[in-house]
Amino acid sequence: MKSYVFPGNIENEILQVGAEQIPYMRTSFFSGIVKESEQLLLEQIHCKNGRVIFYTGSGTGAMDAVVSNFVTLKKKSFILAGGSFGYRWKDLCEYYHCPYHLFEVPFAKSPDYSEMEEQIKKANPDVFLCQHHETSTGELYNLSRIAEICKKYDVFLVVDAISSFLSDPLDMNSLNIGMCITSSQKGLNIPPGLSFVFLSEKALSEEYNHLSYYFDFKENLKNLERGQTPYSPATTLFLQLHKRLKMNSEIGVDAIIDKVRKRALYFRAKCKEHEWLIPAENPSNCITGFFVNRNGDILFNELLKENIYIMPGSTPGFFRVSHLGLQSEEDIDYLVSRIKAIEEK
Ligand SMILES: *Cc1c(COP(=O)(O)O)cnc(C)c1O
Repeated sequence: MKSYVFPGNIENEILQVGAEQIPYMRTSFFSGIVKESEQLLLEQIHCKNGRVIFYTGSGTGAMDAVVSNFVTLKKKSFILAGGSFGYRWKDLCEYYHCPYHLFEVPFAKSPDYSEMEEQIKKANPDVFLCQHHETSTGELYNLSRIAEICKKYDVFLVVDAISSFLSDPLDMNSLNIGMCITSSQKGLNIPPGLSFVFLSEKALSEEYNHLSYYFDFKENLKNLERGQTPYSPATTLFLQLHKRLKMNSEIGVDAIIDKVRKRALYFRAKCKEHEWLIPAENPSNCITGFFVNRNGDILFNELLKENIYIMPGSTPGFFRVSHLGLQSEEDIDYLVSRIKAIEEK
Protein backbone atom coordinates (compact mmCIF):
# COMPACT_ATOMS: atom_id res chain seq x y z
CA MET A 1 0.00 0.00 0.00
CA LYS A 2 1.16 3.51 -0.82
CA SER A 3 -0.30 6.18 1.45
CA TYR A 4 -0.41 9.83 0.48
CA VAL A 5 -3.07 10.47 3.14
CA PHE A 6 -2.89 10.87 6.95
CA PRO A 7 -0.95 9.60 8.80
CA GLY A 8 1.17 8.49 5.81
CA ASN A 9 3.49 5.51 5.63
CA ILE A 10 4.92 4.57 9.04
CA GLU A 11 8.25 2.94 10.00
CA ASN A 12 8.10 -0.76 10.89
CA GLU A 13 9.61 -0.14 14.29
CA ILE A 14 6.59 1.98 15.23
CA LEU A 15 4.05 -0.31 13.56
CA GLN A 16 5.57 -3.21 15.49
CA VAL A 17 4.63 -1.59 18.82
CA GLY A 18 1.02 -2.11 17.76
CA ALA A 19 1.57 -5.86 17.38
CA GLU A 20 2.67 -6.40 21.00
CA GLN A 21 0.62 -7.51 24.04
CA ILE A 22 -0.97 -4.60 25.89
CA PRO A 23 0.60 -3.65 29.24
CA TYR A 24 -1.52 -2.58 32.23
CA MET A 25 -1.59 1.23 32.45
CA ARG A 26 -1.95 1.95 36.17
CA THR A 27 1.74 1.40 36.73
CA SER A 28 4.74 3.62 37.30
CA PHE A 29 6.08 2.45 33.93
CA PHE A 30 3.05 3.84 32.10
CA SER A 31 3.04 7.05 34.19
CA GLY A 32 6.63 7.52 33.10
CA ILE A 33 5.64 7.17 29.45
CA VAL A 34 2.91 9.80 29.86
CA LYS A 35 5.11 12.23 31.78
CA GLU A 36 8.00 11.97 29.38
CA SER A 37 5.66 12.28 26.38
CA GLU A 38 4.20 15.44 27.87
CA GLN A 39 7.65 17.00 28.28
CA LEU A 40 8.68 16.05 24.75
CA LEU A 41 5.46 17.42 23.26
CA LEU A 42 5.92 20.71 25.14
CA GLU A 43 9.49 20.98 23.87
CA GLN A 44 8.55 20.18 20.29
CA ILE A 45 5.83 22.85 20.17
CA HIS A 46 7.81 25.37 22.30
CA CYS A 47 5.38 25.68 25.19
CA LYS A 48 7.49 26.28 28.28
CA ASN A 49 5.74 25.76 31.62
CA GLY A 50 2.63 24.54 29.83
CA ARG A 51 0.70 21.31 30.17
CA VAL A 52 -0.67 18.80 27.71
CA ILE A 53 -4.01 17.10 28.17
CA PHE A 54 -4.14 13.71 26.41
CA TYR A 55 -7.45 12.48 25.09
CA THR A 56 -8.22 9.11 23.63
CA GLY A 57 -10.25 10.57 20.79
CA SER A 58 -9.66 12.15 17.40
CA GLY A 59 -8.68 15.79 16.87
CA THR A 60 -12.26 17.02 16.90
CA GLY A 61 -12.54 15.66 20.46
CA ALA A 62 -9.84 18.10 21.55
CA MET A 63 -11.57 20.98 19.70
CA ASP A 64 -14.80 20.04 21.47
CA ALA A 65 -12.95 20.01 24.81
CA VAL A 66 -11.59 23.53 24.25
CA VAL A 67 -15.05 24.88 23.49
CA SER A 68 -16.86 23.09 26.32
CA ASN A 69 -14.24 23.81 29.00
CA PHE A 70 -13.15 27.27 27.99
CA VAL A 71 -14.99 29.06 25.20
CA THR A 72 -18.37 28.58 26.93
CA LEU A 73 -17.17 30.90 29.72
CA LYS A 74 -16.28 33.69 27.30
CA LYS A 75 -18.48 36.47 25.95
CA LYS A 76 -17.67 36.19 22.27
CA SER A 77 -15.39 34.30 19.86
CA PHE A 78 -13.97 35.43 16.56
CA ILE A 79 -13.74 32.54 14.09
CA LEU A 80 -11.53 32.44 11.03
CA ALA A 81 -13.25 30.13 8.57
CA GLY A 82 -11.66 29.30 5.23
CA GLY A 83 -12.76 25.69 4.90
CA SER A 84 -14.39 22.75 6.61
CA PHE A 85 -12.14 22.83 9.69
CA GLY A 86 -12.78 26.54 10.27
CA TYR A 87 -16.51 25.85 10.05
CA ARG A 88 -16.06 23.09 12.65
CA TRP A 89 -15.25 25.83 15.19
CA LYS A 90 -18.50 27.52 14.18
CA ASP A 91 -20.49 24.29 14.55
CA LEU A 92 -19.00 23.69 17.99
CA CYS A 93 -19.83 27.23 19.12
CA GLU A 94 -23.39 26.77 17.91
CA TYR A 95 -23.64 23.40 19.61
CA TYR A 96 -22.69 24.94 22.97
CA HIS A 97 -24.64 28.18 22.33
CA CYS A 98 -21.51 30.36 22.37
CA PRO A 99 -21.79 33.74 20.64
CA TYR A 100 -19.34 34.18 17.75
CA HIS A 101 -18.37 36.47 14.92
CA LEU A 102 -17.58 34.60 11.72
CA PHE A 103 -14.83 35.86 9.42
CA GLU A 104 -15.11 33.91 6.18
CA VAL A 105 -12.25 33.48 3.74
CA PRO A 106 -12.83 32.27 0.16
CA PHE A 107 -11.57 28.81 -0.87
CA ALA A 108 -7.76 28.51 -0.57
CA LYS A 109 -7.29 32.29 -0.25
CA SER A 110 -5.24 34.15 2.34
CA PRO A 111 -7.35 36.19 4.71
CA ASP A 112 -7.38 39.96 4.26
CA TYR A 113 -5.64 40.61 7.57
CA SER A 114 -6.35 44.37 7.63
CA GLU A 115 -10.04 43.72 7.10
CA MET A 116 -9.88 41.05 9.78
CA GLU A 117 -8.32 43.52 12.19
CA GLU A 118 -11.08 46.03 11.46
CA GLN A 119 -13.73 43.44 12.24
CA ILE A 120 -11.98 42.41 15.45
CA LYS A 121 -11.90 46.03 16.54
CA LYS A 122 -15.66 46.26 16.01
CA ALA A 123 -16.68 42.81 17.29
CA ASN A 124 -14.56 43.06 20.43
CA PRO A 125 -14.19 39.29 20.98
CA ASP A 126 -12.32 37.73 23.90
CA VAL A 127 -11.28 34.52 22.07
CA PHE A 128 -9.89 33.96 18.58
CA LEU A 129 -10.45 30.49 17.07
CA CYS A 130 -8.55 29.46 13.96
CA GLN A 131 -6.56 26.79 12.20
CA HIS A 132 -2.87 27.23 11.48
CA HIS A 133 -3.32 25.18 8.33
CA GLU A 134 -6.78 24.75 6.80
CA THR A 135 -6.30 21.14 5.72
CA SER A 136 -9.32 21.08 3.43
CA THR A 137 -7.67 23.53 1.03
CA GLY A 138 -3.93 23.46 1.80
CA GLU A 139 -3.84 27.11 2.82
CA LEU A 140 -1.46 28.06 5.63
CA TYR A 141 -2.45 31.14 7.60
CA ASN A 142 -0.01 33.77 8.76
CA LEU A 143 0.05 33.01 12.47
CA SER A 144 2.49 35.81 13.27
CA ARG A 145 0.09 38.32 11.79
CA ILE A 146 -2.87 36.75 13.64
CA ALA A 147 -0.93 36.62 16.91
CA GLU A 148 0.07 40.27 16.56
CA ILE A 149 -3.55 41.35 16.09
CA CYS A 150 -4.68 39.20 19.04
CA LYS A 151 -2.03 40.75 21.23
CA LYS A 152 -2.99 44.27 20.20
CA TYR A 153 -6.67 43.77 21.06
CA ASP A 154 -6.06 41.45 24.01
CA VAL A 155 -7.81 38.46 22.46
CA PHE A 156 -7.01 34.95 23.75
CA LEU A 157 -5.61 32.95 20.82
CA VAL A 158 -6.63 29.31 20.28
CA VAL A 159 -4.99 27.53 17.35
CA ASP A 160 -5.99 24.23 15.81
CA ALA A 161 -2.51 23.14 14.77
CA ILE A 162 -3.55 19.57 14.04
CA SER A 163 -2.08 19.47 10.55
CA SER A 164 0.71 22.04 10.97
CA PHE A 165 2.49 20.61 14.02
CA LEU A 166 5.76 19.08 12.73
CA SER A 167 5.14 20.16 9.15
CA ASP A 168 5.31 23.95 9.43
CA PRO A 169 7.24 25.92 12.07
CA LEU A 170 5.15 26.57 15.19
CA ASP A 171 6.29 28.25 18.38
CA MET A 172 3.56 28.70 20.98
CA ASN A 173 5.68 30.82 23.31
CA SER A 174 6.99 33.34 20.85
CA LEU A 175 3.54 33.82 19.31
CA ASN A 176 1.86 34.06 22.69
CA ILE A 177 -0.64 31.33 21.76
CA GLY A 178 -2.99 30.51 24.62
CA MET A 179 -4.00 26.99 23.57
CA CYS A 180 -3.06 24.68 20.73
CA ILE A 181 -4.63 21.47 19.55
CA THR A 182 -2.95 18.60 17.74
CA SER A 183 -3.64 14.93 17.13
CA SER A 184 -1.77 11.69 16.58
CA GLN A 185 -2.49 10.92 12.93
CA LYS A 186 -0.97 13.98 11.26
CA GLY A 187 2.59 15.26 11.81
CA LEU A 188 3.22 12.72 14.57
CA ASN A 189 2.70 10.02 11.95
CA ILE A 190 1.20 7.36 14.23
CA PRO A 191 -2.33 5.89 13.99
CA PRO A 192 -5.41 8.06 14.69
CA GLY A 193 -6.97 7.96 18.15
CA LEU A 194 -5.09 10.44 20.34
CA SER A 195 -5.54 14.18 20.54
CA PHE A 196 -3.83 16.80 22.64
CA VAL A 197 -4.69 20.17 24.12
CA PHE A 198 -1.62 22.27 24.86
CA LEU A 199 -2.30 24.74 27.65
CA SER A 200 0.12 27.66 27.89
CA GLU A 201 1.10 29.06 31.27
CA LYS A 202 -1.50 31.76 30.68
CA ALA A 203 -4.20 29.19 29.87
CA LEU A 204 -3.47 27.38 33.13
CA SER A 205 -4.52 30.43 35.11
CA GLU A 206 -7.90 30.65 33.32
CA GLU A 207 -11.17 29.35 34.69
CA TYR A 208 -12.65 26.19 33.20
CA ASN A 209 -16.23 25.11 32.77
CA HIS A 210 -17.60 21.64 33.54
CA LEU A 211 -19.94 20.73 30.70
CA SER A 212 -18.26 17.55 29.56
CA TYR A 213 -17.57 14.73 32.00
CA TYR A 214 -15.07 12.83 29.83
CA PHE A 215 -13.23 15.89 28.50
CA ASP A 216 -13.18 17.89 31.76
CA PHE A 217 -9.91 19.88 31.84
CA LYS A 218 -9.69 20.01 35.63
CA GLU A 219 -10.19 16.29 36.13
CA ASN A 220 -7.71 15.49 33.35
CA LEU A 221 -5.11 17.90 34.76
CA LYS A 222 -5.50 16.38 38.23
CA ASN A 223 -4.76 12.88 36.91
CA LEU A 224 -1.89 14.16 34.82
CA GLU A 225 -0.06 15.09 38.03
CA ARG A 226 0.61 11.37 38.49
CA GLY A 227 1.09 10.68 34.79
CA GLN A 228 -2.32 9.14 34.30
CA THR A 229 -5.54 9.75 32.39
CA PRO A 230 -8.87 9.56 34.26
CA TYR A 231 -10.19 6.77 32.01
CA SER A 232 -8.56 3.91 30.06
CA PRO A 233 -6.03 5.38 27.68
CA ALA A 234 -5.38 3.93 24.21
CA THR A 235 -2.32 2.23 25.71
CA THR A 236 -0.72 1.10 22.46
CA LEU A 237 -1.06 4.53 20.90
CA PHE A 238 0.62 6.11 23.92
CA LEU A 239 3.54 3.73 23.46
CA GLN A 240 3.75 4.55 19.75
CA LEU A 241 3.54 8.24 20.60
CA HIS A 242 6.38 7.95 23.08
CA LYS A 243 8.57 6.16 20.56
CA ARG A 244 7.80 8.76 17.90
CA LEU A 245 8.56 11.67 20.22
CA LYS A 246 11.92 10.14 21.20
CA MET A 247 12.75 9.70 17.52
CA ASN A 248 11.70 13.28 16.81
CA SER A 249 13.93 14.66 19.50
CA GLU A 250 16.89 12.74 18.03
CA ILE A 251 16.24 14.12 14.54
CA GLY A 252 15.16 17.60 15.64
CA VAL A 253 11.94 19.41 14.81
CA ASP A 254 13.56 21.74 12.26
CA ALA A 255 15.04 18.81 10.33
CA ILE A 256 11.66 17.04 10.29
CA ILE A 257 9.92 20.14 8.95
CA ASP A 258 12.65 20.61 6.39
CA LYS A 259 12.09 17.10 5.04
CA VAL A 260 8.34 17.63 4.71
CA ARG A 261 8.92 20.96 2.97
CA LYS A 262 11.35 19.45 0.46
CA ARG A 263 8.82 16.78 -0.51
CA ALA A 264 6.11 19.39 -0.90
CA LEU A 265 8.33 21.49 -3.17
CA TYR A 266 9.36 18.43 -5.18
CA PHE A 267 5.73 17.41 -5.74
CA ARG A 268 4.74 20.99 -6.62
CA ALA A 269 7.43 21.21 -9.29
CA LYS A 270 5.83 18.11 -10.86
CA CYS A 271 2.39 19.72 -10.61
CA LYS A 272 3.72 22.68 -12.52
CA GLU A 273 5.16 20.40 -15.19
CA HIS A 274 1.79 18.72 -15.68
CA GLU A 275 -0.24 21.94 -15.30
CA TRP A 276 -2.07 20.78 -12.19
CA LEU A 277 -3.19 24.03 -10.64
CA ILE A 278 -2.47 24.59 -6.93
CA PRO A 279 -5.09 27.05 -5.65
CA ALA A 280 -3.57 27.83 -2.20
CA GLU A 281 -2.18 31.35 -2.02
CA ASN A 282 0.19 30.41 0.78
CA PRO A 283 0.46 26.61 0.67
CA SER A 284 1.42 24.63 3.78
CA ASN A 285 4.18 22.02 3.74
CA CYS A 286 1.77 19.41 5.05
CA ILE A 287 -0.28 18.74 1.93
CA THR A 288 -0.56 19.87 -1.65
CA GLY A 289 -4.06 20.56 -2.90
CA PHE A 290 -4.25 20.56 -6.70
CA PHE A 291 -6.66 20.33 -9.63
CA VAL A 292 -6.22 17.66 -12.29
CA ASN A 293 -7.29 18.57 -15.81
CA ARG A 294 -9.08 15.37 -16.84
CA ASN A 295 -10.75 12.31 -15.34
CA GLY A 296 -11.08 13.82 -11.87
CA ASP A 297 -14.28 11.81 -11.48
CA ILE A 298 -12.47 8.47 -11.71
CA LEU A 299 -9.03 9.31 -10.32
CA PHE A 300 -9.64 8.41 -6.68
CA ASN A 301 -11.10 4.98 -7.44
CA GLU A 302 -8.60 4.16 -10.17
CA LEU A 303 -5.71 4.84 -7.75
CA LEU A 304 -7.47 2.78 -5.10
CA LYS A 305 -7.45 -0.21 -7.46
CA GLU A 306 -3.65 0.09 -7.45
CA ASN A 307 -3.59 0.37 -3.65
CA ILE A 308 -2.63 4.06 -3.79
CA TYR A 309 -4.40 6.43 -1.42
CA ILE A 310 -4.83 10.17 -1.98
CA MET A 311 -7.48 12.48 -0.49
CA PRO A 312 -10.40 13.74 -2.52
CA GLY A 313 -11.37 17.39 -2.04
CA SER A 314 -14.70 19.13 -1.70
CA THR A 315 -14.60 20.46 -5.28
CA PRO A 316 -14.68 18.37 -8.51
CA GLY A 317 -11.18 17.71 -9.84
CA PHE A 318 -9.55 18.85 -6.58
CA PHE A 319 -7.32 16.37 -4.71
CA ARG A 320 -4.94 16.52 -1.78
CA VAL A 321 -1.65 14.69 -1.30
CA SER A 322 -0.04 14.56 2.13
CA HIS A 323 3.72 14.93 2.52
CA LEU A 324 3.85 13.46 6.04
CA GLY A 325 5.43 10.19 7.12
CA LEU A 326 7.78 8.10 5.00
CA GLN A 327 7.84 9.51 1.47
CA SER A 328 10.78 9.43 -0.91
CA GLU A 329 11.23 11.26 -4.21
CA GLU A 330 10.66 7.89 -5.90
CA ASP A 331 7.32 7.59 -4.07
CA ILE A 332 6.36 11.01 -5.41
CA ASP A 333 7.53 10.17 -8.95
CA TYR A 334 5.48 6.99 -8.82
CA LEU A 335 2.33 8.81 -7.73
CA VAL A 336 2.80 11.49 -10.36
CA SER A 337 3.21 8.91 -13.12
CA ARG A 338 0.06 7.05 -12.00
CA ILE A 339 -2.03 10.24 -11.89
CA LYS A 340 -0.73 11.25 -15.30
CA ALA A 341 -1.58 7.84 -16.76
CA ILE A 342 -5.16 8.02 -15.41
CA GLU A 343 -5.56 11.58 -16.68
CA GLU A 344 -4.65 10.34 -20.16
CA LYS A 345 -6.95 7.30 -20.09
C1 LIG B 1 -7.50 16.38 10.81
C2 LIG B 1 -7.90 17.70 11.32
C3 LIG B 1 -8.81 17.84 12.39
C4 LIG B 1 -9.39 16.72 13.18
O1 LIG B 1 -10.07 15.78 12.54
P1 LIG B 1 -10.36 14.39 13.26
O2 LIG B 1 -10.95 13.63 12.14
O3 LIG B 1 -11.32 14.64 14.34
O4 LIG B 1 -9.06 13.87 13.75
C5 LIG B 1 -9.10 19.12 12.83
N1 LIG B 1 -8.54 20.20 12.28
C6 LIG B 1 -7.65 20.10 11.28
C7 LIG B 1 -7.03 21.35 10.75
C8 LIG B 1 -7.31 18.86 10.77
O5 LIG B 1 -6.41 18.78 9.77
